[in-house]
Amino acid sequence: MTAIRDRATATVATTCPYCGVGCGVDVTPSAAGEPRIAGTLSHPANFGRLCVKGSALGETVSLDGRLLHPMIHGQRATWNQAVGFIADGLQRTINRYGPDSVALYLSGQLLTEDYYIANKFAKGFLGTGHVDTNSRLCMASSVAGHRRAFGSDTVPQTYEDLDTADLIVLVGSNAAWCHPILYQRMQKALETRGTRIVNIDPRRTATSEGADLQLSVRPGMDSVLFSHLLVEIANRGAANGAYLATHTEGFDAAIARAREIAPDLATTAARTGLDPADIATFVHLFITTQRTVTCYSQGVNQSAQGTDKVNAILNCHLATGRIGKPGCGPLSLTGQPNAMGGREVGGLANMLAAHMGYSPAEIDRVRRFWNAPRMATGEGLKAVQMFDATASGRIKALWVMHTNPAVTLPRADAMRRALAKLDLFVVSEALTQTDTTLAGAHVLLPASAWGEKDGTVTNSERRISRQRAFLPPPGECKPDWKHVALVARRMGFTGFDYAGPADIWREHAALTAFENNGARDFDLGAMADVTDTAYATMQPFLWPWRAGEPAPRERFFADGGFFTPNRRGRLIAIADPALATTVDDRYPLVLNTGRVRDHWHTMTRTGKSARLARHVAEPYVQVNPNDATRFGLVDGGLARIDSPHGSATLRVAIDIGLPSGMAFAPFHWSDATGGLVRVDSVVEGTTDPVSGQPEAKATPVAITPIRIASEGFIVTRQRLTLPSWLQHVRIRVPEGEAITFGSHHDPERLFGLLANLLGARSNRRHLADPAEGRYRSVTFAAVPAIAPAIEQPGVTEQPGERLETALFIAPTRELNALDWIAEALALPSLDAGMRKALLAGRAPAGGQNAGPVICSCFGVREATIRDAITAGASDVDAVGACLKAGTNCGSCRPEIARLIRANASTPIAAE
Ligand code: SF4
Repeated sequence: MTAIRDRATATVATTCPYCGVGCGVDVTPSAAGEPRIAGTLSHPANFGRLCVKGSALGETVSLDGRLLHPMIHGQRATWNQAVGFIADGLQRTINRYGPDSVALYLSGQLLTEDYYIANKFAKGFLGTGHVDTNSRLCMASSVAGHRRAFGSDTVPQTYEDLDTADLIVLVGSNAAWCHPILYQRMQKALETRGTRIVNIDPRRTATSEGADLQLSVRPGMDSVLFSHLLVEIANRGAANGAYLATHTEGFDAAIARAREIAPDLATTAARTGLDPADIATFVHLFITTQRTVTCYSQGVNQSAQGTDKVNAILNCHLATGRIGKPGCGPLSLTGQPNAMGGREVGGLANMLAAHMGYSPAEIDRVRRFWNAPRMATGEGLKAVQMFDATASGRIKALWVMHTNPAVTLPRADAMRRALAKLDLFVVSEALTQTDTTLAGAHVLLPASAWGEKDGTVTNSERRISRQRAFLPPPGECKPDWKHVALVARRMGFTGFDYAGPADIWREHAALTAFENNGARDFDLGAMADVTDTAYATMQPFLWPWRAGEPAPRERFFADGGFFTPNRRGRLIAIADPALATTVDDRYPLVLNTGRVRDHWHTMTRTGKSARLARHVAEPYVQVNPNDATRFGLVDGGLARIDSPHGSATLRVAIDIGLPSGMAFAPFHWSDATGGLVRVDSVVEGTTDPVSGQPEAKATPVAITPIRIASEGFIVTRQRLTLPSWLQHVRIRVPEGEAITFGSHHDPERLFGLLANLLGARSNRRHLADPAEGRYRSVTFAAVPAIAPAIEQPGVTEQPGERLETALFIAPTRELNALDWIAEALALPSLDAGMRKALLAGRAPAGGQNAGPVICSCFGVREATIRDAITAGASDVDAVGACLKAGTNCGSCRPEIARLIRANASTPIAAE
């Protein structure tokens, strides 16, 4: 059972900690266990809706795995000792090597107040500019593109524009899985007002199901397509001459370069790999639709030419004057809940603070505001550079907050080795065992987690919302801002005596308005002197909100007013995009990485939910059927992907929606959730020359089928340590975990190796069928006696037996058994029938596996949905009417649509 804490019982309005949509969440704590979760009806991002991840938040707040006390070199320490250790270590490092030897690596999971303090501490007091964030990995190219075009990192649009657009163009965005609530807004616009949707993505994804036009562009060639669009805008007289003349510059150079890149339709088709007719349809739709919103996401940003891709898109909106108007403009969809907040405070190494850069005047302004003794004097190292500098010995002290770079950085094995070289390695974390905390951290500081934190976050549309605590911090956990403030004060710095997040917010807001006078986009002047009560009750609002303004402004740039020196927006002559990557005989496939619907980042939170684990339970590598034949891969078999940097061994999923020559793998799994499954070990991560964002979509790889002699699984109540040579995956199930694995060892040998791990117990039963190669081990244990609900002195419930562990090994994959055995683990005690079934290895009646869970809200599996479709349910609503699938959060509706489409195209077999 998970530990339960004392809780308040009133409903608390807070914000979802996952994606950049930034949905409002109402949490009602329950004395009985998990809090009740609902979408906030009045929140303008979601109006009461939540996707499946948000809906399952209540299942992720247990204390399992929490880091509850400071640790120094693996030993429990007091806060006083830990703070002293860090302060001394930082001072010693600076004395010996200078401030340039110190770095902070932050996270889009931090709240703005945490981010602000960390940035101030490093850039104004330690004197290092080496402050970067994992947001570098997800949207730095959007920031760089915005700054080149607008002179500032400004998102011109709001989510309302999705409701009123006539055309939505999605570029490099699987919004159906990664921004589900916004995707549902788009689908609603499609259904209610006939909005057209164009999806530009090399892969056919769940998002493609709801699109009018799918453009499976060749990887890296998006900017050729948008260059062609710009050429056609000019050729057909669709450019907005008045807007261009009055508010912009650079059109002539941009169009001249676009003509070189995409001079005509035939060249564009040849370079993008698209059907000329589809390109023509897209161009016609864009040119003839005034109310067009272009949404772009990681497929654009996570690219070695990401900034140019962003500017190719912005060029088309600037050329048509379609920006900052209702239903009309470009909209970057950020990955993380507070990626925008990090951008606002200066969490990126190339920004100083409050959307200011590193000009001498800006450095001086911030220095005076902070009364800072030692200001950073220039841009710091960006994420990949920062860890490369750690490897080379330039960075000697590193403080990582709330992120897991040992899993998520490209070339992750090399990055992990780099961490071992540090003189001082500090990690602020909520969990004890992440790949990063286990990578040799000298000091671990216990951090408050989502339900315990107070502060603000900013979503993709510039809307600032409050995140509010509804749980007390457990053990000795403290919010991240306090970690920094304690160390800063110990180092003798003044200006870190904050009473709470409201204090920090007021200072942050005041800095945004300091000597601003309309020169900078980001201005929270109206919020600079809010009372603690006003901060506590703050409602979501869009920035900017300048002092004296009655209400925040909604959009930017409809009438120019860019933040360049001459206030003109800039069209950019982008570089001709070479193919991001070249394959050869040794590495013949291009690896694209991304996310699955129900998991988030390295699963440190979603991995706690058995419900979320049922959609995609194991990591996989998708390949096209042609490539499967070419490389001898079988669906469901294991394959190893290799690059010069590392390897990962994954299940093969053959998918017709993937183009030939590409492999796709989600990046969520780590050493904490499996073995040999870390995909970012393989990723090359060539960085964009402007933004420094690493390429995550185009690593040349080899793929090799792995011969498997044994397949199996363990279901266990206790966490087990498996050998590092074994490919395995941990899956959360109620009351424990399941571990699937495959091995080249024959079943008997593997059974001998693994059965020992389960420990010696008298009530273990080994069952073997050597002729068939099947081996099982099942352990039962007496149910611990528990006190009755109503205490009666001397009376306890009668103990029975429950399942403790089950190990199944066979020559072939027999996952049918996994589901019902995992369900047996959750039974408080076993009846005779279930004991017999477990010993026989045969499912009790009704215990068969029906494939992956498609609808996580109601636990509806794929086979059940297929049956309903075969029985006549011909659309998503009809499936919902008979199974309820897709009728709650709606995240699964695109997959139900895919199953319906697949069923319609399946030829009926002859009787
Ligand atoms: Fe959270 Fe889902 Fe909303 Fe994203 S779309 S903020 S994951 S509820």
